[in-house]
Amino acid sequence: MSTQNLNSRNLIHHPEFSIEINNQSGFCFGVVNAIKKAEENLSTDEKLYCIGSIVHNSQEVSRLSEKGLEIINIAQVKNLANKNILFRAHGEPPESYDILKQSDNKLIDATCPVVLKIQQRIKAAYINSKKNDGQIALLGKKNHAEVIGLIGQTDNNAILIETENDLKKLDFSKPIELFSQTTKSLAEFQNIKKRIEIQAKNSFKANDTICRQVSNRQTHLKEFSKKFDAVFFVGDLKSSNSKVLYQECKRANENSFFIVSPSDINAATLKNATSIGICGATSTPQWLMEDVAKAIEQLKLS
Ligand code: SF4
Repeated sequence: MSTQNLNSRNLIHHPEFSIEINNQSGFCFGVVNAIKKAEENLSTDEKLYCIGSIVHNSQEVSRLSEKGLEIINIAQVKNLANKNILFRAHGEPPESYDILKQSDNKLIDATCPVVLKIQQRIKAAYINSKKNDGQIALLGKKNHAEVIGLIGQTDNNAILIETENDLKKLDFSKPIELFSQTTKSLAEFQNIKKRIEIQAKNSFKANDTICRQVSNRQTHLKEFSKKFDAVFFVGDLKSSNSKVLYQECKRANENSFFIVSPSDINAATLKNATSIGICGATSTPQWLMEDVAKAIEQLKLS
């Protein structure tokens, strides 16, 4: 599942070509931690149930499924007994904890510590906002697991801001406290913050809760992609982060190709390429990028 030819810098060197895996692509520490917890559990138990997809990458999900991981939704917990249930890195709303407590199952909580901290902050801000008739606003994507978990801390009263258009849902005569989903772009957050600042007639506090593990990847990938004759972006068609980051590579280097697995590599695209870059989304496993590097090496040598 991984190549032996890579050196410590994620590099394959050959007199006629080089292949480099981007060292800032792949899982953030929150996801690495959740997968580690899942694997530890599956080393002693035959089965582990995860609420929602552990990561938005079908290759990684099937690797873990083979080990015994099953993806379920929270309502299905009621039909299980004496099982281990994993909460993934995105976190869960309080209702999920209640459902689990009322069942005879055991919780393995892999909520990312960063997300957990933001859940606590938004909850405290919500309690405080009730004293002065304030509002909690959250910049995020509707129905995203992390957003559901965060809004749940406010009894589902936080006002979701997906675009500038949603700002009309706010009452600017009342206090406002703004938070952000951890994976939003800094530019988007700054823009929403500025728009509220302009219109606010009462107190306004903006909490930049964007995770720095992922916030600078767009800029970084742009610079990375420019360095190579060809770039292979390894992602999942269902991952929105994959699509956004791939577009960044494509803009920086026209010779960028989106692939899901090594079998998608078109040998013709490698013909005149002597320097090849491999990168991926925050949901792309390292082993998959390594498999792609190995496949490219084989194609170049054949
Ligand atoms: S908060 Fe950061 S480290 Fe944690 S899961 Fe989200 S992106 Fe990953």
